[in-house]
Amino acid sequence: MNIALFGPPGAGKGTQAKELSKYYNIPHISTGDILRANVRDGTELGLKAKQYMDKGELVPDEVLIGLIRNRLTEPDCETGYLLDGYPRTIPQADALTGILSDINKPLDAVINIEVSDDELVKRLSGRRSCTCGESYHVVFNPPEKEGVCNACGAELYQRDDDKEEVIRQRLSVYNEKTKPLINYYDDAGILVNIDGTGAVDAVFADICKVMDQFK
Ligand code: ADP
Ligand code: ADP
Ligand code: ZN
Repeated sequence: MNIALFGPPGAGKGTQAKELSKYYNIPHISTGDILRANVRDGTELGLKAKQYMDKGELVPDEVLIGLIRNRLTEPDCETGYLLDGYPRTIPQADALTGILSDINKPLDAVINIEVSDDELVKRLSGRRSCTCGESYHVVFNPPEKEGVCNACGAELYQRDDDKEEVIRQRLSVYNEKTKPLINYYDDAGILVNIDGTGAVDAVFADICKVMDQFK
């Protein structure tokens, strides 16, 4: 199964990806998680990416294209992959098509998770994240123990880019640079729209209904 989860910041891509990756046993490839790990480790890539991420801007295409090419050619992608947060621009999508053709693993579906802007702002401003990649919400999806990750026990934190001004900037970048990919993948005949406003479990069930076709 070769899937990309698509949608604005806060749509629930990471939340759904965690569950889907376990359920279908395919690697969850989150470019945001990979970039944040590099920022924490202080790598050259991380130092470069941080300047853009803190401002709510996209990291340059050439950086992301190299990163995703390396990741998709790792052995765990042999049985499929679940992309989360890539592609985010038309050049990234074009590069992806080339990479996937080289490795002979074209996308089966691009799942577009739809949520209104008001709801996105509520979700992002209450998000609490873990370095392991899990995310929670103080109201909508609280961890069992306040401030602590269910999955790994680490302390949760609020991302620097989940502050109100940066959230607005990220939504505007999404509308300008990323949203055009909806038409791009619709024209390619692989776009699937999913209503992302229901509860986490209901959205998961809707996505599984679609993905089961590709097993
Ligand atoms: P994305 O990866 O698309 O940016 P996340 O999966 O991190 O989004 O979710 C954003 C925030 O919304 C998190 O705080 C998460 O707990 C919460 N969330 C995710 N899915 C839902 C849902 N179906 N209903 C309410 N809140 C949700
Ligand atoms: P969210 O889903 O909440 O927007 P992500 O974790 O996917 O957050 O991304 C966080 C930040 O990492 C983005 O705002 C951007 O700066 C950078 N980033 C992640 N993926 C990409 C990408 N494909 N292209 C460019 N920048 C990216
Ligand atoms: Zn954790």
